[in-house]
Order: sequence, then structure tokens, then C-alpha cells
Amino acid sequence: MKISKIFLYDEPTVPEININKLANFIKKTFAIDTIARKNIFSGVDQTICKQLASCRVFNTRRPFEFHSPSSEEIEFEKKSCQNTSNIENIIMYDGFEFQKTVSNLISENEKSSDSFHLIFTNRLTCTYDFNDYRYHGRAIICSNPSVISTTGIVEAPAKPREYYMELISNMVQGLNLESIKKKYQGTYLEYHDERISNVVEGYAMQAIFYYLTGEPFCEQLECRLFNAHWQKDLIYSQIESAKLCERHQKNLNNLVFNLNS
Ligand SMILES: [Zn+2]
Repeated sequence: MKISKIFLYDEPTVPEININKLANFIKKTFAIDTIARKNIFSGVDQTICKQLASCRVFNTRRPFEFHSPSSEEIEFEKKSCQNTSNIENIIMYDGFEFQKTVSNLISENEKSSDSFHLIFTNRLTCTYDFNDYRYHGRAIICSNPSVISTTGIVEAPAKPREYYMELISNMVQGLNLESIKKKYQGTYLEYHDERISNVVEGYAMQAIFYYLTGEPFCEQLECRLFNAHWQKDLIYSQIESAKLCERHQKNLNNLVFNLNS
């Protein structure tokens, strides 16, 4: 696959994405013309709102079942699209269904295979895992368009095991949970964490690598293509290491060479 243009769509409630900085990073890394755009959901019509509402996951223990949304649910999506900061309670969406819906938002003349689209959303995308028969939050859905969920970045990779243990034992004893959160602060990403701007670079690379090579992830913890299941690992690969492994750096050099020759 070849890409001649990349389009990024911002999630305005998460200024930490720093969409213009990200566009520059991609342009510099892949030597591909990259354009940053505003939220793709502003001004969507009733049909799309209905489709979004029907992607909701109601039973996390069962594979996706198409849901016929109520008018309240459609109205909720409409409001969320107009003002994305409205999302207070986290709602789960089937990531693949959600991706199909947002692909309808790409204009026909920009749907060619050499145009790559990357959409940010604060909706939580999830995928059903047949290994443990349940839905899991996902930070990224790789396809074209790819979707990066900012809520997924915060919620999907797990916090330290000890954090959950302490949280549960303190909840049972009715103790203050804030002190535990404080104790572990910094070891995981929080909402409006300024480190999100570094982390989205890695996720964007995964999406672009997937489209160009069919292989988004790497086994090496020090590589930005590492598929982190723990916050600790995400922070390590994207912020402390912040580079590609040797093999993927070579791949990237070849990609850039081929794309520009
Ligand atoms: Zn690698």
C-alpha cells in the first residue's frame, strides 16, 4: 500500500493530542504530506447518529449484537457530536462497527487508497476477545480510517496490579481512595495528562505501519510499535524509550525511501 496524503481529525476535548505537533511529527517521520483537521463528528446527520448509537456494547460477555437504538440514544449521540465534552459516563462501542460508521464520514473524493485517515475520538472503542469471551477497551482500531480513542489510551492499558489491590482493600474498609491514586500518580496516564501528546505519536505510527505493511505491532518493549497492555509498558515504550527498534527503524527507512522514489 502507498500513501500520498494523511488526514488527521482532532478530538477537541483533548487538547493534549496537540494535533498540529502530531501532523509535523508524521510529516517528518514518514515524509508524507499530512493535514490536521477539526473534529470529524461536528455536523453529522441523523443517520450517522443512529449508526453510532447502534454500535454500543450492552453485554461485555457476548460478541457484538446489533442494537436498535431508542430515540433518546440517538439524541444523546447527536448532542455528543455537537459538544463532545458531554461524555461523562463512559459508554462502550464496538470498535469495528464504530470504524465502519466513521468511514462513512470520509468524503468520496478522499476515499482513494493512497489517502490515509486517522480519527481521534473520546468515545471508548472496545473489541470482543474470543480468548476470554469478553470485551476489552482498545486505544486503537487499525484500518483506513484508523481510530484512536483517547479514553482508550487512559482506560485500556491496565494500571499496576498493586494499585487495584490497594483500591479494592481500601474500598472494603471505606478508606480514602484519593491517597491511593496519589501514591501511584505518574505511573499511569490520566485524563488531560500532558504525556498524551507523546503517546499519540506512537499510536499514529502503529496505524500507519499497519496500513503500509499489514503489521502494526512489535514484540520489543523499547519499540514505539509495542502493543502495550499495561500503562507502565505504554509509558516506557512511548516516553522513556521513544524510538523504534532496530528492525522497525530499518523498515521505516525503506518505507520512506520507497514512498519518495
Ligand atoms: Zn519494533
